Amino acid sequence: MKIQKDIQFRERFAQIEKREVNPSQPFLYGVISTGIFCLPHCPSKVPNPENVVFFESADQALMQDFRSCKRCKPHISLKLAVEDEHEKIHQVAKKIIRESGCRKVGDLAMILNISDRQLNRIIKKQTGLSTLAFIKSLV
Ligand SMILES: [Zn+2]
Repeated sequence: MKIQKDIQFRERFAQIEKREVNPSQPFLYGVISTGIFCLPHCPSKVPNPENVVFFESADQALMQDFRSCKRCKPHISLKLAVEDEHEKIHQVAKKIIRESGCRKVGDLAMILNISDRQLNRIIKKQTGLSTLAFIKSLV
């Protein structure tokens, strides 16, 4: 089978190797040889890239006859994993603002290594505030 070389594939596969979830672009991966689909942070063995296909949702994987992995339970934990990451980012942002005196949305996003837009979306979701209002509430 031909190995896909596109950028998204490489980025996603790197996440599987590091076992991390990118909260802004969650995905699932299926392993063709086993017919099982997983979350990027699954503790199972990192699959051969030739056997990997990506899904945007558990439904999509199930429709293609993949089974949900018993270890990482992707059909129920994708949402939770993303919420976890958002809460983590929220807490780290709070710490950075308090400890470094960071006052600019752009600087904060840069330190967190996410885009301004992602930061705004996450802060809004976690606190109900705009990022600027969030920063001001902590100063
Ligand atoms: Zn798994």
